[in-house]
Amino acid sequence: MEAISLRAPAKINLSLDVLGRREDGYHEVEMVMQTVALHDVLHLRKRSDGEIVLLCRGEGVPAGPENLVWKAAVLLKEQASLDLPGVEIVLEKNIPVAAGLAGGSTDGAAALRGLNRLWGLNYSREQLLQLGGRLGADVPFCLLGGTALARGRGEKLQPLPPAPFFHVVLAKPRVAVPTAEVYRHFRPEDREPRPDTAGLVEAIRRGDREGIRERLVNVLERVTRRLFPEVAEAGEVATAVADRLFGPGKRPVVMSGSGPTFFCLLDDEEESERLAQELTDRLPVVIKTFFWREPGERQNNQELTGEG
Ligand code: ATP
Repeated sequence: MEAISLRAPAKINLSLDVLGRREDGYHEVEMVMQTVALHDVLHLRKRSDGEIVLLCRGEGVPAGPENLVWKAAVLLKEQASLDLPGVEIVLEKNIPVAAGLAGGSTDGAAALRGLNRLWGLNYSREQLLQLGGRLGADVPFCLLGGTALARGRGEKLQPLPPAPFFHVVLAKPRVAVPTAEVYRHFRPEDREPRPDTAGLVEAIRRGDREGIRERLVNVLERVTRRLFPEVAEAGEVATAVADRLFGPGKRPVVMSGSGPTFFCLLDDEEESERLAQELTDRLPVVIKTFFWREPGERQNNQELTGEG
């Protein structure tokens, strides 16, 4: 195989709970994650000179060794006992950066999967998940995709049955939010209200749409709102619009990850269009997407093309 193109889809957190601080400095989390259709695209082409070359189309993305795509390539090269060929990677960035949508992690996951094919490494899914965990806590979920419960730093995964289909509107202010800073400012009292993770998982299993909407809670939302006034304002604006269009509390607006992206789950295309239209005049970034629900390899980091 000489070249391959892959999709790298974003995720949202249907819930995010912080259970405590670990000895290694990370926080113990419990989150329900969901893949959405919004995606970056990676084009990989083999190089005979052993070099890694990365070109990024999009703003605010490092095109060097800090990029998770680059780190994925270096990690695989270090693992391999033989000399590997190089690769030229073109990354088409569509997922907003530093937005709570795991944009970097999903690119790293797609690079691992794509290079496994391009370089003929034949790593199993389990081996890739393990390598992914070394790249970043969200990378294993991005390899798995679909709907899953994540624990530990986010790397301990329990796949869940596909959640019922929702349209999703994403909306964010312009600010970029550093994940580490949000965790650093987390206080135990931010855990109010507490997510009902078990109830959310049950609602997903039952396909209970209202049960899911009622349990969308992210304990980092208070922290990010406190640290960044423009995030608090964006959340208020989006909630006011959703309440006006659909009735108070009917279509809750919740933050994903450490923010600053907010999301709202809608029943159909028409609802999604109405909300997106109204938000477009009020917030700088508004994106319509939907749950990407096929679990496993077929959907996530899906192969678009492969030249033999
Ligand atoms: P998460 O939801 O996993 O916390 P995020 O969506 O908040 O992640 P990313 O978009 O992954 O955040 O970006 C976080 C930082 O990672 C960026 O500031 C950027 O410098 C770095 N980064 C490294 N590789 C990438 C990549 N391929 N795409 C975007 N950002 C990347």
